[in-house]
Amino acid sequence: MNGDDHAQQHHDTSPQTWRRVIWRGLCRRCPRCGVGRMFKSWYTLEGTCTSCGLEYESRDGDTWAFMYVTTAGLTGVIIIAMLLLKPPSIMMGRLFVAVAAIVVVFLTLPYRKGMAIALHFISERVWQDDPDADN
Ligand SMILES: [Zn+2]
Repeated sequence: MNGDDHAQQHHDTSPQTWRRVIWRGLCRRCPRCGVGRMFKSWYTLEGTCTSCGLEYESRDGDTWAFMYVTTAGLTGVIIIAMLLLKPPSIMMGRLFVAVAAIVVVFLTLPYRKGMAIALHFISERVWQDDPDADN
């Protein structure tokens, strides 16, 4: 905990704080303190924040809807891209979609996961009394 975090406590649900929390998620950092790492490897979550002790695992199940929607959305973008690009042959198009889907969906996984955890962290702040909130 530092002075900056302390000063922000009274503005927990302000848009600036939301942006900061989501940015932390995209950087795969702890949504609460921004210091601890979220993942110990490519896609293996740390159990808790190494810095402030926030539990990530408890949020795991709540991120599936977000992951599903963003995966579907990315797939849609890839399909639209293929239609716009007009591949020279059907086989080229299929190959493009397969490779693009694997690359895009896989490469963005931890970032989307981090964002999902950050969004869930925000939703707890906004709609519930979070016992973790009083750091
Ligand atoms: Zn933390």
